[in-house]
Amino acid sequence: MVAIEFVRPCGQDGFTPTSVGGNWESRPAGDACGAGHSQRSPAGVRRGVDVTVTATRISRPAPGRDLAAAEEAAAAFLTALGIDLDTDSLAGTPRRMARAYVELLTPRDFQLTTFDNDEGYDELVLARGIPIRSVCEHHLLPFVGVAHVGYLPGDRILGLSKLARVVELFAHGPQVQERLTKQVADWLHTQLRPKGVGVVIEAEHLCMTLRGVQAAGARTITSTMLGSLRADPRSRTEFFALAGLTPR
Ligand SMILES: [Zn+2]
Repeated sequence: MVAIEFVRPCGQDGFTPTSVGGNWESRPAGDACGAGHSQRSPAGVRRGVDVTVTATRISRPAPGRDLAAAEEAAAAFLTALGIDLDTDSLAGTPRRMARAYVELLTPRDFQLTTFDNDEGYDELVLARGIPIRSVCEHHLLPFVGVAHVGYLPGDRILGLSKLARVVELFAHGPQVQERLTKQVADWLHTQLRPKGVGVVIEAEHLCMTLRGVQAAGARTITSTMLGSLRADPRSRTEFFALAGLTPR
């Protein structure tokens, strides 16, 4: 078993926010679109004696962003709510709003690094407490929390930090937590072909805690189990125990 615990807030220690959606792209790092990393990590480079390292650039085509139009719309939105923008403090708010949402919704690329599982490692690899920040697509308010992501390796092993990258790949965009959970699991299942994948997300939705029912402190938990983590109760129990959750 390998367990990693993420304790730093999101945005520190090099976690690269990325984005959500089904139209991400993956290319070998040597591809023309892999600028910036391709020289250092060409796909399929053999490092050391026994380990083949494969680096694939993961990117998602950025949707069109019109910052000026967003700022204008933010000003109209705030004005429609009766907020007077003609003060020193509020004058820059539409611009700040527009930039804040661009940041929350814009993907960033990363290198998906995998290694041959030459030694046949067949125990659970789990990253616990990966920080999540996303935006509820129904209210466009943030939801924040943690993800626990694990897999039972097949032929390939993922670079350890990449589990956090994959979570952020899908977190940065308009989301619902159930979809986010499934997307992370499905993506790992497709990309890595592991024997099993487990993803649990615990998050607080500001649209639920600050408005509506105002259930302050309530956290929503979602999970997706695939492969042997779904089929084998012992593996599933181990996953939940290592994630610090009560097994189902
Ligand atoms: Zn919401």
